[in-house]
Amino acid sequence: MSSPPRPDAAPPSHLACTAARRAILDQLQPITGWERVAVRSALGRILAQDVIAPCNVPAHDNSAMDGYAVRAGDLAGEAETGLRVVGSAFAGRPFSGSVVAGQAVRIMTGAAIPTGADVIVEQEICRREGEQVFIRGPLQRGRNLRRAGEDLAEGGVALPAGTRCGPAELGLVASLGIAEVAVRRRLRVAFFSTGDEIASIGRPLAPGEVYDSNRYTLFGALSRLDCELLDMGVIADDPAALEAAFRDAAQAADVIITSGGVSVGEADFIREMMARMGEVAFWKLAIKPGRPMAFGRIGDAVLFGLPGNPVAVLVTFYQFVQDALLTLAGVDPLPPPNLFTVPCTQAIRKRPGRREFLRGRLVRDAEGVRVSVAGAQGSGVLRSMSEADCFIVLAEDCGDVAPGDGVLVQPFDGLI
Ligand code: AMP
Ligand code: MG
Repeated sequence: MSSPPRPDAAPPSHLACTAARRAILDQLQPITGWERVAVRSALGRILAQDVIAPCNVPAHDNSAMDGYAVRAGDLAGEAETGLRVVGSAFAGRPFSGSVVAGQAVRIMTGAAIPTGADVIVEQEICRREGEQVFIRGPLQRGRNLRRAGEDLAEGGVALPAGTRCGPAELGLVASLGIAEVAVRRRLRVAFFSTGDEIASIGRPLAPGEVYDSNRYTLFGALSRLDCELLDMGVIADDPAALEAAFRDAAQAADVIITSGGVSVGEADFIREMMARMGEVAFWKLAIKPGRPMAFGRIGDAVLFGLPGNPVAVLVTFYQFVQDALLTLAGVDPLPPPNLFTVPCTQAIRKRPGRREFLRGRLVRDAEGVRVSVAGAQGSGVLRSMSEADCFIVLAEDCGDVAPGDGVLVQPFDGLI
């Protein structure tokens, strides 16, 4: 006789994680609107246009080594050849003459290649005697030469539109002598918490109340994505207040994110309000934590109604909202998910059906990198979220995990 299913097994009516992600991303178009900003201000912003190289980088053929600039033709034989040193070339101070047969120019890294020279011979294999330098051939033409335009060719696309500017991109733009770039405007995100029991920080809790933590985790996650934030506070489960909040948010923002009030059979008005004011789907997701989630539109704004439990908020944000915001912001293509497999140090009970996101801690010891479960896994337990440094992602069809089994982990670094 088979045992009855445990309550955490998902019925087939529940939407799989990947299907929900696809359904969300398929509906989204990047926002339009852009501005020109100075290079430094482009950090974290998304390029609205290709950056075209106005010049070559490097600007001129130059030496990759300290040594001597010579002509390959002078060093055809295997015997040591003596060449007369006729001058020097330094970075920023080129040799003004040209190198003719039988001559060499002392050259430093980064210095422009003198006319006539086609090989840089590193000093380690040269023998200097007074005005003469002795070199053994033959040497390949082009040795130790960095060609003009080798990094970036004039007229070519140096950075494509959709690139998110990090430190390397700022440097690259500056290396082209460009002072300003066109970036997409920031995504405007309005967010609020819902629930009669939710209290804002700054006053003592009344009996039965809970401090609002979701607005702070969302503030942190959204700030890292460089969004323009509209924090709308806590809205009670009151129809008039909720309607006004949704109306204001839809007018002011590209995206509305709420937490709480989306599960079935609650004394909340929020589902009803969302459904009345826009086109919203209410999903039962086959994930844990974070089963209920609403997605759709109110007016022109995209709506994410996240569950109320603090850990479920973070899980649904990272699995569904973050890539959606990047897509709306114009990042193209999306970065690959940062998932990798490591052995688990302990047993985990898991029934096939839902995709589970456990809070994990990566440990590195003599045996390599492994992962352990971090603390209590209740969907309201933020403490273990803080103690964790990764999600352990157990796929829908995965069952119990034994110590030493490989599990997928998704490190928080870059996420949280
Ligand atoms: P709900 O989805 O509205 O049923 O909320 C689920 C659980 O999460 C309840 O225990 C709520 O008290 C809690 N919760 C909802 N919103 C918040 C919030 N903003 N901060 C902390 N806990 C919350
Ligand atoms: Mg509620």
